[in-house]
Amino acid sequence: MKILRADIYPLSIPLIEPIKMSREIVVDAKTVLLCLTDEKGRQGWGEASVAPLMTGETLDSLIGSIRYLVEKSLSIDWLEPDNFADTFSLFLYSNASAKSCVEMALLDLYTQEACVPLWQYLRSRNKSLNELPPTAIPLLRMLGGSLEKELSDAKTFRDLGFRHWKIKIGSPSLEEDLHRVKMLCDSLAGDVISVDANCALTLTDAIRFCQSEEASRLTFVEQLIPADLSMDDFALLKNSSGIPIGLDESIHGVAELEQFIDANAIGGASLKLIKTGGIIKALECAKLLSEHKLGLNLACKIAETSLSAAATASIGFATGEVSWGFSMSNQYLKFDVCDAPLIAKHGYLEVSQLASTGIGVTPSINRVREVIAKGYSVIQC
Ligand SMILES: [Mg+2]
Repeated sequence: MKILRADIYPLSIPLIEPIKMSREIVVDAKTVLLCLTDEKGRQGWGEASVAPLMTGETLDSLIGSIRYLVEKSLSIDWLEPDNFADTFSLFLYSNASAKSCVEMALLDLYTQEACVPLWQYLRSRNKSLNELPPTAIPLLRMLGGSLEKELSDAKTFRDLGFRHWKIKIGSPSLEEDLHRVKMLCDSLAGDVISVDANCALTLTDAIRFCQSEEASRLTFVEQLIPADLSMDDFALLKNSSGIPIGLDESIHGVAELEQFIDANAIGGASLKLIKTGGIIKALECAKLLSEHKLGLNLACKIAETSLSAAATASIGFATGEVSWGFSMSNQYLKFDVCDAPLIAKHGYLEVSQLASTGIGVTPSINRVREVIAKGYSVIQC
């Protein structure tokens, strides 16, 4: 499979409403789409979003790295998906998001050529699951804003079928967070409820949070403490907590997962393609979590389009169970780039939405062109 042409689209897509996290407020999705055209005229699409606090990549650095990788890709005959990531590493150190974007587009082309949906190709690699039909993936809904708004949104989306939730914590005081968590747990009793501090708590506050009565009904807590704390600190937190400890910013791949598993310092992980460097490596992480009976949350960055959502969901359909839910962030966009965006059905994503060969969704070029980031233009290689 040879690549003849590449088009890189730097996008800025407004969110329905700003999303406040402990260290930033996100008002728009800064994301990059890549369209590769192969020698048979097929088009394969990839996406990666900026995440300066998670991957260190900005819109400019992401565009530069993707362009660099694509220019190298033009002279290569792409044959075996297992080798794609190693090939990227011959040219570029680190830069997981850019590698994920290019791998996604190559896998879209590869599975189109093989006439198979991406999720089915990935599932065929897991022999123990291949004969079983994939189950729908539960979608995780984020709550934010004032407590009144959070309670109102919780009711609205629960009535629509959502049963998996994430509460962002870490910006008000610990007491305020504990009160919010208690009120939301009262309102959502019986559901899968999590909190995410995005590294904002001290170890002392994190232990206090996990041992509090208010937090006792949570299914898991995500990245309460900074990723640069010691492994002993993470192990202490896990051993002090009756609630499973999920990690996000701490986990970028199999090597880190194995370290945390060996240290008995992790109860589950949030996997994002921009961290693992692509779909194949994220699938390896998901399998490792499953083997150790640890929680799995699949997640897109806030926010990515249906394209990244479909690629990430394919890992869920290939894995078998997404116990901690799938954070499908296109639901927070004012505008998706696909004419038929992925949508929640009773709080779940069904595999029938990804029935086409390849990734399963295709961006509309007209919609893409409407949301080119201000001051940027399409780059052709
Ligand atoms: Mg997180």
